[in-house]
Amino acid sequence: MTVVPDLARPLVDGFGRQHRDLRISVTDRCNFRCTYCMPAEGMVWHPRDHLLTFEEIERVARLAVERFGFDSIRLTGGEPTVRSRLPVLVAKLSALGVDLALTTNGSTLESMAYDLHQAGLDRINISLDSLRADRFAELTRRHELPKVLGGIRAAVAAGFDPVKVNVVVVRGVNDDEIVDFARFGRNEGVTVRFIEFMPLDADHRWSQASVVPSAAIVAAIGAVFPLERLTRGSDPAERHRYLDGHGEIGVIGTVSEPFCSSCDRVRLTADGQLRACLFATDETDLRALLRAGATDDALADALAATVAGKWAGHGITQVGFTRPARSMSEIGG
Ligand code: SF4
Repeated sequence: MTVVPDLARPLVDGFGRQHRDLRISVTDRCNFRCTYCMPAEGMVWHPRDHLLTFEEIERVARLAVERFGFDSIRLTGGEPTVRSRLPVLVAKLSALGVDLALTTNGSTLESMAYDLHQAGLDRINISLDSLRADRFAELTRRHELPKVLGGIRAAVAAGFDPVKVNVVVVRGVNDDEIVDFARFGRNEGVTVRFIEFMPLDADHRWSQASVVPSAAIVAAIGAVFPLERLTRGSDPAERHRYLDGHGEIGVIGTVSEPFCSSCDRVRLTADGQLRACLFATDETDLRALLRAGATDDALADALAATVAGKWAGHGITQVGFTRPARSMSEIGG
């Protein structure tokens, strides 16, 4: 349970949304080359000294907790497990008493799951977009499906509960596996979360036509395994439980059913930029402040100012929507 320090005051934006969830990208690097995320040749990686150090990350996180009562942190990438000594950072952040989660492609979990759990990680989401080896290789440009499946089982064995599997559904690419993934989740005892395709792909091939709406995903699964909708908090996922008691699924309808009105998240990129929204087109350079010797007050003010200026929502389906300059791998989920 998170203890909210006495100093803490709620960080509320202009739309009355209290922010309490910090998403931290610990690296822009990845060992996969997912087609909807980055080009085959990869990206031009940030020089290592541009990445925030563990101490800098911990300082920003501590301020978010102590000054504003943040109670959850999610570590993302690129692929966070390619950042060396990650369990050390997990232990530092876990000591802040927050709910600590990680999103990973699962390829290293067979060797890392136990250490991450021991270091204090509470929750884990594993990205997997196909259960077919050939299609997996096509989508990720890597032949690593067995490793990822092994990683999922290692996460369950390490004691993570629930283990969540994130599936980005793209029309005409993997939408014919929706029910297969539901069955996989039921058989493996993991929660599958289906995510609508978002305009954050490095190749800019996203179109509204490539989006499978969350309602259609729920309908496809419900036709085979009857579902009941559960109440929703500020979690991006709309949850549905199986009526026969075999667990639940989640759907994240960013495009068709935006949930920006209950958004409680800010993001810190691996190179120290603070983003009020996943689709933000402007950022606050916290790294410059950190390395210029800024005080805790100055950093807290920068965090507060970023949230104060936050827009109502992404506006993806509206005329004039501008994609962020960064792709998903440079922001983190
Ligand atoms: S799109 Fe932006 S405002 Fe909407 S839920 Fe995501 S981060 Fe929040």
